[in-house]
Amino acid sequence: MSHKSLFSYSFDEFKQAVTDLGLASFRAKQVWEWIFKKFVFSFDEMTNLSKNDRDLLRQNFPRILPPVKKFEKAQDDTVKIVVELADGHLVEAVGMPDENSLTFCLSSQVGCNVGCIFCRTGEDGFTRNLTKEEILLQVMMLIKKIGRKPTNIVFMGMGEPFFNRKAVFAAIDTMTDAGGLGLATRRITISTSGVIPGIVDMINRPGEVNLAVSLHSVDEQTRNRLVPINKKYSLGRLREAIAAYCDATGRRVTFEMVLLKNINDQENDAYNLVSFCEGLICHINIVRFNKYPGSDLEPAPESNERDFRKILKKAGIPVTVRRSRGGDILAACGQLSGSGNEQEK
Ligand code: SF4
Repeated sequence: MSHKSLFSYSFDEFKQAVTDLGLASFRAKQVWEWIFKKFVFSFDEMTNLSKNDRDLLRQNFPRILPPVKKFEKAQDDTVKIVVELADGHLVEAVGMPDENSLTFCLSSQVGCNVGCIFCRTGEDGFTRNLTKEEILLQVMMLIKKIGRKPTNIVFMGMGEPFFNRKAVFAAIDTMTDAGGLGLATRRITISTSGVIPGIVDMINRPGEVNLAVSLHSVDEQTRNRLVPINKKYSLGRLREAIAAYCDATGRRVTFEMVLLKNINDQENDAYNLVSFCEGLICHINIVRFNKYPGSDLEPAPESNERDFRKILKKAGIPVTVRRSRGGDILAACGQLSGSGNEQEK
């Protein structure tokens, strides 16, 4: 008896496991369809399987989905779930429904060792990487809670996804497999703090997974402070890797900018960003800083943000402002912690 989670298997591996149990191999396809197409997570409800086969599968895969440890819904319908992993650690995942879309924001690690100063996740340091199965569990548990599959996936939750590339890419392969969830790769975005080997891997990967880079500043000293990994992967080398990515793939990179009062929100910061972007296929996404308990940082005043945008627009650089979602349940960008704690009142 394996007792391995079903989500740790690829379809071919699951088919092998099913035939090893003495079942017909087409049973694997039926189970896969129930789970990934019809979102049924109990063998008892898989009505085209015989009772004997259902019993055998239940004995070998006792629990398809664990229960959600904690579920919260924000005023804007953003949903946050806390997932308890087999070793007791907690991770958070967020679902953001809109009229025509549903975006899932996923975690890739328990904690994070990058230490961005505006992010709550890194406060307790790094514990461990998530497995492919634990990443897929977040997706399937959100689907079960919300009742439909996502249109978009972003790896912007807890952790630096490029420090866990093997599991992240394996989870993406299952999400995009036509026999699985069948999501389009171009609907999936990996957001990195600037881990260059991950950007190089993206050049060579098939599919059209999008790349976002948490840039925040193009001044070496300021970025060292905001995103300390910059001391290892400096801005110059980062820009070279991004340029190589744009040249090789023809795809656009999104630069995320959290504008902080008196740190990176001045006009000269915007002009320097324009120079950095020259020759790159890129788009700037201004992310409003979401305050969280214990942080003394302040978001840029609206007037600074407006002037910043104007400078970029005038230089012909596409710029958007990301609407903050789920702030009242600490589900917005930079607010996830895996503590499952309530927001301070
Ligand atoms: S923003 Fe991302 S990379 Fe930076 S500390 Fe938070 S989780 Fe880690």
